[in-house]
Amino acid sequence: MLPKIFKFSKYLHSQIRFYSKLLPQPTRNIFPKYTGIFINNEWVKSESGSTFPTINPSNEEVICQIEEGKAEDINKAVKAAKKAFDINSPWRKMDACERGNLLQKLADLIERDRAYLASLETLDNGKPYSQSYNVDLGLTIKCYRYFAGWADKIHGKTIPLDGNFMCMTRREPVGICGQIIPWNFPLLMQAWKMGPALAAGNTLVLKPAELTSLSALHVAELTAEAGFPPGVINVVPGFGPTAGASLAQHPDVDKVAFTGSTEIGREILKYAGSNKDLKRVSLELGGKSPNIIFADCESIDKAVEQSHFALFFNMGQCCTAGSRTFVEEKIYDEFVSKSKTLALSLHDKMGDPFDLKTEHGPQINKEQADKILGFIKSGIDQGASLLTSNKNDYHKIPTQKGFYVKPAVFSDVLDGMDIAKEEIFGPVQQIIKFKNIDELYERANKTIYGLAAAVYTKDIDKAMMLAQIIRAGTIWINCYDIFDAAAPFGGFKQSGLGREKGEDGLYGYSETKTITIKIPQKIS
Ligand code: ADP
Repeated sequence: MLPKIFKFSKYLHSQIRFYSKLLPQPTRNIFPKYTGIFINNEWVKSESGSTFPTINPSNEEVICQIEEGKAEDINKAVKAAKKAFDINSPWRKMDACERGNLLQKLADLIERDRAYLASLETLDNGKPYSQSYNVDLGLTIKCYRYFAGWADKIHGKTIPLDGNFMCMTRREPVGICGQIIPWNFPLLMQAWKMGPALAAGNTLVLKPAELTSLSALHVAELTAEAGFPPGVINVVPGFGPTAGASLAQHPDVDKVAFTGSTEIGREILKYAGSNKDLKRVSLELGGKSPNIIFADCESIDKAVEQSHFALFFNMGQCCTAGSRTFVEEKIYDEFVSKSKTLALSLHDKMGDPFDLKTEHGPQINKEQADKILGFIKSGIDQGASLLTSNKNDYHKIPTQKGFYVKPAVFSDVLDGMDIAKEEIFGPVQQIIKFKNIDELYERANKTIYGLAAAVYTKDIDKAMMLAQIIRAGTIWINCYDIFDAAAPFGGFKQSGLGREKGEDGLYGYSETKTITIKIPQKIS
């Protein structure tokens, strides 16, 4: 039997230790304080004088206007970051442990403002407040603290060479980093980018997604309060083809770190090699992750719950979403029926994201909601069975404003259907039948993506065989979406380039310098 009311929070709380039982009340009526461009620890207006609106996805109303950064503002920000990276600057002369102290201070300030930041994130992004507070803020704070600890532990090696030489390596900062982040986890993506870049001693210009700039701007103010020197951190809100492209092509930017769609990721790679330039690039892109449930899993109910969470968490707006739920034939019908019940129970928990009982908020905007509805239609047209609404009633809840999409479950999904191949980035679960492990070798890997995968079984041999053959950057066994700051994360194939988080993520923000010294053979 499934629990009557499944709560994401129940699953999340068992994974995330930062959960506070005393969830503070959200602040509903925020008028955001920071809406400008942050350069040299100061708030400035855009050079062009233009602004753009940011919209509340739950009621479609304009929250406020934000200064719109374009090429000239990016130039100013990069100039500031370059000056802050000068060899004689306070930042370059700072002891490594002091960099760590600043990152800890930043984490303290985010902790202080946690309820406010969680409210701001909910207002701008639409995700339920309980999730913003527990998950986004919890992981963000942990990420800054994790990288704070690394700042004075970035060691090189000594290497034995042939002959009378002594060889050592140093890890030096890459330089000026351009960081472009998406809208699905705005604070966390900022932390994944800024944490390691700052721990390793770089300076940076960050461009938040145009749909969710507000929390990044509040954190920018906190970096100044923490005591980071001017110019080390600059945040320029604006659009992708203007501000984003100027940052990614700027000749003084040494490294571009990007999270977003595979399509734009390819553009970023092109920019990196154009204009007689060769930037370092790291990319976190799309996914179509297989989530494989064997009949010998510990409990079908638990596997159903975790697969539901793997897909519907964050309204399905996760690059790791377990959007190909492969279920062994023997338990397929039971799994499908229980998944349907669970998804239907989520229909009752859709609503105002500030309501503490809400577990399913709106999608980020109309364009995304329409795209998702288009995929649902294609699933129906291509012959999959939609279990959660009738064919004419799958669209958003009719009476409510906001970009809501009802959680949907499809069974009878075949590998060739669009819903089984394309990244939907929304609350649509595809349940696909398989007969045995042999066919999974090919079917699980039959995708251009390789971000994540999960396997549910009590048989460790089976789990490890699949963990070895699935070409994905992250494999979860009997769990899903575990995002500890210490574990490297990134994609195989078209899901990305390089790794974030963990030691690997840190090294992505450093250059190895090899120093070789000739040692005299005799002391004269
Ligand atoms: P999504 O489809 O999730 O919105 P995008 O890849 O379009 O993802 O956007 C992710 C981030 O990339 C956003 O900050 C966006 O402004 C930025 N972006 C979009 N297009 C470009 C571009 N041509 N060059 C640089 N950045 C871009």
